Amino acid sequence: MADILFKNGFFLPNDGTLRKGSMRISGGKIRDLSKSARPKPKDRVVDLSGRLVIPGFVQTHIHLCQTLFRNLADDLALLDWLKTKIWPMEAAHTEQSLYASARLGIAELLAGGTTTILDMGTVRHTDAIFTAMEEMGIRGFSGKCLMDDPATFRGLRESTSTALKENRLLADRWHGAAKGRLGYAPAPRFLLSCTNQLMKALQEEAAHRKCLVHSHSSENREEVAAVRKRYGKENIEAFQQLGFANGQLVLAHCIWLSENEKQILAEAKIKVAHCPGSNLKLASGIAPVPELMKRGIHLSLGADGAPCNNRLSAFSEMRLASLIQKPLHGPTAMEAKNVFEMATLGGAKALGLEEMVGRLQPGFAADFVVIDAATPGWNLLLQEGHPNPVYSGLVFGGGVEAVEETWVNGRLVYNKGRYPGLSTDQMHKSALRQLSSLLRRAGLSA
Ligand SMILES: [Zn+2]
Repeated sequence: MADILFKNGFFLPNDGTLRKGSMRISGGKIRDLSKSARPKPKDRVVDLSGRLVIPGFVQTHIHLCQTLFRNLADDLALLDWLKTKIWPMEAAHTEQSLYASARLGIAELLAGGTTTILDMGTVRHTDAIFTAMEEMGIRGFSGKCLMDDPATFRGLRESTSTALKENRLLADRWHGAAKGRLGYAPAPRFLLSCTNQLMKALQEEAAHRKCLVHSHSSENREEVAAVRKRYGKENIEAFQQLGFANGQLVLAHCIWLSENEKQILAEAKIKVAHCPGSNLKLASGIAPVPELMKRGIHLSLGADGAPCNNRLSAFSEMRLASLIQKPLHGPTAMEAKNVFEMATLGGAKALGLEEMVGRLQPGFAADFVVIDAATPGWNLLLQEGHPNPVYSGLVFGGGVEAVEETWVNGRLVYNKGRYPGLSTDQMHKSALRQLSSLLRRAGLSA
């Protein structure tokens, strides 16, 4: 395939600079970023005048299986939200409804410039999520949600052996699939949904496969109290006792933490996925992010699921991540540049992909986003060597409306409202059909 030469654009490589020039991609990778590049005879040349190119966003906590449930579970706190709405709806998923939900979520993520995700599946039909990810071209990880505790929701509960067996088969099938674009990350939902027996076996499996493990922790005070009652310990201490305190573990939320837990997070290099939008909507709390950063704890961003946000936009999460800390820690807390890095490189590091994504750099994957700097509400000042107004625009003022194109692995996966090989009209109609039959099966109404 011919090289593609993007010229006359402004590039934010994520190294503290803003450069005007051109970028050459081929074979799925960025080959060159330079002031001016002469086209070769077979090049396809794309003019990016008035456009800003940024690395794709990496969101480290997403539930594609819940996209269908958007706008159907408001004004509840975590445990009631799960028990009365989310778990019954997840339990009612068929392979077809899960596929529809995943496609809808991926479409939204790509349209908002997110190119890599860490997704948490539901208990059944996980193949449907991977199939949608494979077809639509997003990069990332998903994994079966593990729920075997006798006290957990009946409609999703599995036996320990069934859960572990399916987990192994899925890992064999999907880890490294789509030429390495997809990976498998098992997801023990949270400590309260899993038996110690399952966690022990999973720990051995994860150590053997060297894969990520994706879970929730310390999100809500009721959940923290229930964990304390069951384990006689705090969440992170219990994860440590079970053998999970290492750099493979990605924990969403981490709001309610003791001093000892913060120390374990830092020492064990556990990755924290900060989800400010979800934490506000479920009234869970405000994670002590500036303190965690100061202690060297690794942070990235995620929108969580559509019903607790209700957006899957990296722009929204960046804005909230900064704004919610300012009344608590003063106006200089969470400056735009650091927040943008958290949403890109931070995510890449959390997923062990920091040599591949999160930057625009020769040798890195061609995962990037083209932004129209003249979109109303943006009026982005593009001036070589002055990246600060661009960081400000992206974090405080920006929204998905300015995203024109999203590229993953050198492939155009989103282009001005369209997805290659997919009718958006058909996707939406099928999602609505699937949702109404899912609600009937769940015995719920809209
Ligand atoms: Zn979540």
